[in-house]
Amino acid sequence: MCLHDDEDIWHIVICPGHEDGFQQVESEVTSKIMKFIKKSTSSTKIVQGQLEHIIFEYKDEAFPLLKERNRIELIRGLISDTIITKLQRFLSKKVTNEVVSRIIKHFHKAFRKYIWNPL
Ligand SMILES: [Zn+2]
Repeated sequence: MCLHDDEDIWHIVICPGHEDGFQQVESEVTSKIMKFIKKSTSSTKIVQGQLEHIIFEYKDEAFPLLKERNRIELIRGLISDTIITKLQRFLSKKVTNEVVSRIIKHFHKAFRKYIWNPL
């Protein structure tokens, strides 16, 4: 955990003290979404590792600099067009829409669970 007094969003997304927490958030969100995708569509070829790189864009080695922006957008409940476009390569429009709202929901839940614990 982080011991800084001044914990705003900008600090939390770059603080090494929260890196483990973010990793737990990311893997929990990815596995929940993967489960939902498997239930909703039998025809997709997407696998968990790909899904994780799509939702958390900076995990793709081609885009390491996106980390802060990617995290801040998710904290604010936003999903970038790039993420949506990539999801639609594997999923129907309908399933994509459902996935997008579930990403936001699960991200917020996991964020509160692993990172932001108001005491
Ligand atoms: Zn800190």
